[in-house]
Amino acid sequence: MNDFDKKIREVTGTYLKTSSIEIIQVNVGTPCDNRCVHCHIQAGPDRTEIMDSRTVHLVLRAARNAKPKLIDITGGAPEPTPLRLHKNRKKRRP
Ligand code: SF4
Repeated sequence: MNDFDKKIREVTGTYLKTSSIEIIQVNVGTPCDNRCVHCHIQAGPDRTEIMDSRTVHLVLRAARNAKPKLIDITGGAPEPTPLRLHKNRKKRRP
């Protein structure tokens, strides 16, 4: 049990349980042409971290199992990454 789970248990007396997952948001990397002050991952032109292909496959497997209504792929900007995940971003389940 991690610290977050322990705190939830301490405050609520129970555990967090997921009833359904509607959206999975994936931050694939930190490179971006912009440097917005509000960016929650501090992306920017000088950042280089990019999700590796092994992690991409784990995320896709998790998404397949969770069957969310939407997978929101973002970065940084997803376009500069070599992963090409953004090419499928308009595909949605019916
Ligand atoms: S990822 Fe979005 S919020 Fe962050 S710096 Fe780039 S454009 Fe701005």
